[in-house]
Parts: sequence; C-alpha cells; structure tokens
Amino acid sequence: MKKRIMAIMLAALCALSLCACGGKDSGSTASSDAAFTTVTDGVLTMATNAYFPPYEYYEGSEIVGIDAEIAKAVADKLGLTLKIEDMEFDSIITAVSTGKADMGLAGMTVTEERKQNVNFSDTYATGVQVVIVPEGSDIKTVDDLQGKKIGVQLSTTGDIYCCDDFGTENVEEYNKGNDAVMALISGKIDAVVIDNEPAKSYVAANEGLVILDTEYVTEEYAAALNKENTALLDAINGALKELKEDGTLDSIIAKYIPAE
Ligand code: GLN
Repeated sequence: MKKRIMAIMLAALCALSLCACGGKDSGSTASSDAAFTTVTDGVLTMATNAYFPPYEYYEGSEIVGIDAEIAKAVADKLGLTLKIEDMEFDSIITAVSTGKADMGLAGMTVTEERKQNVNFSDTYATGVQVVIVPEGSDIKTVDDLQGKKIGVQLSTTGDIYCCDDFGTENVEEYNKGNDAVMALISGKIDAVVIDNEPAKSYVAANEGLVILDTEYVTEEYAAALNKENTALLDAINGALKELKEDGTLDSIIAKYIPAE
C-alpha cells in the first residue's frame, strides 16, 4: 500500500516538474532574469550559411568565423552548448520562425521585411554591399551596373536591391556567394554584388578581380530570433551587451578583420 502511494506521489511530482519547466524543450539560465526556452534543452541551435567568410566558413569540418565565435561566447554566457546548423541562406528565417533553430546568425542584415517573420537582436556589426568586377571592367560605379548581368546570392539584401534597382531580368541568383564569383571569373556575368567582407575574401582568393571604390548600401547585422521567444531575445541581448562592454566582441571581429 505504502509503495503504491509513494508511486502515485512520485508520478505527480514528475508531472508537476514537467509542467513547471515545459518538458525537455526548455532551458534556463541563472544569468538572465526571465527563464527562456530553447529548441533543445541546454543547447543554443544556430542556423547559418557557412559560405560567408569571415563571418562563417569551414576550416576542415568545423564552422569557424566571427558569427561562430560570437555565438559560442553568447552560449557560454547563457550556460548553453552551441550547435551550428549549416543550411542555405534562404532557409535560415524559416528555420527560426518554425522553431527548428533558436537563432539565425549569418551576417544577416536587419530589414523591415524580415522583421515581419523574426525578431532581431541588437546589432553587432556593420556590413556594406559592394560590387566586384574583373580588373579593367568598364563598370566603374554602381550606376554603370545598369543593363549589365549582376550575380548575387539568393535572397540576400544584395539580391533584393539589385532586383529593385536594375530589374530581375538582369540579376542572376546563386545559392552561394562563391558560385556567383565563379560565374564572374568564367565571364557568365559582369559583376557580383555582395557584402564587403566576403567580397574581400573572394578577391584575395581569386586573381583578376577588384572591388569598386563606391559602396552600394550600408547595413546592420543582427541575430534573427523566433517572434514568440522574447525571453531568449532578451537573454541574447543581455549577453551581447556584456560582450560589447568587456571588449570580447571587438576582439573577435579584430581577429578576423585586421585593421587596414
Ligand atoms: N547581409 C546579407 C543579407 O542579410 C547577406 C548575408 C549572407 O549572405 N549570409 O542578406
């Protein structure tokens, strides 16, 4: 009899504790006021597209870069283990808004359109859309792109601006920035519009390419989060603030982008 009562009490306790913390899909931290949840308990799942150096790229089988290191520092502050999931850039917002990933961190620009589907953290870096052309190209300024074939990475802000400014018929969309650069080298397109830091990496890695001096658009990068998960947004903003104040953020950026 006693055993049965004990069993019932135990079952009731288990049920209670499951309710209290939302089952296995929850995580919380001592370093934030409000408890937040993550897709997998104790894990910060980051969705990215690891073909965007120096923000995220492969070194062997490991994804490294500014975003990977910032995410690791944020996860450490929140007592979580970082898990990075590599996917097409185009899939990141969906992964976050459908609850498959906790945060999208991918050199992602804050835009009003994206804000309809995700929340953005405080910004942590500035990006500039620039134009890559072959050396000796007759394209000298952004205006010269008129009527030219422009390569972009699918669904990026470069893609959106170029379609608006130069017409979709003049824009070739590629899944990876590098594919656009390869198309430029083989003469299939006349220019590539992409963020400045990956542009520098591509130009350094391939001879015969230059970046135009004139900048196209200046933007802010931030982490994308699920609209429902404002507790995690607050926790991440808190961690970012601490990392800004103690200089960690600057030193991570300086490690990958040496001052010119
Ligand atoms: N900053 C650009 C955007 O948000 C490109 C990001 C990327 O390709 N990873 O659209």
